[in-house]
This record gives sequence, structure tokens and C-alpha cells, in this order.
Amino acid sequence: MTCRRCHGLMVADYYIDLLNGGEDFWLRAWRCVNCGEVVEPGIIRHRLERRSLLSSLAKRWPKTARKEYEVIALGI
Ligand SMILES: [Zn+2]
Repeated sequence: MTCRRCHGLMVADYYIDLLNGGEDFWLRAWRCVNCGEVVEPGIIRHRLERRSLLSSLAKRWPKTARKEYEVIALGI
């Protein structure tokens, strides 16, 4: 697997999930050995939700100002 940010090598890594403490305390994720990017399903879901929110906000932006701004996906 390669990193979407820098095309570096991604390796499986384990992290402690402090926000969602409980039974799923350990979190398995992919980490880029080159740039340090960490990706796991929760992060991907959050980024997609944020991208969707930004897109909906951009659509509500006044038409006169819309040409000056563009929603750009960072990462995923
Ligand atoms: Zn990377």
C-alpha cells in the first residue's frame, strides 16, 4: 500500500484510541514511513464528512464570490 499524499510505503501500526475508550482501546491504522500520514476508517469517515460539509457550504456561498473560492480535497 502506498501513501496518497507522498506515495511512500504504508505500514500497519497500532495506536491507543483515547477518545473512544472502552473495548476497542487499540486502533489499527496505516502509517506512512515517509511523511507520517496516518489513515484508518474513522479518519477517512471524518475527512469525507468534512469534505461534504465544505461542499455544501460552498454551494450556499453567494454566486458573485463563488468564482474566487474552490473546495480542494486535501489528503483523501
Ligand atoms: Zn506519505
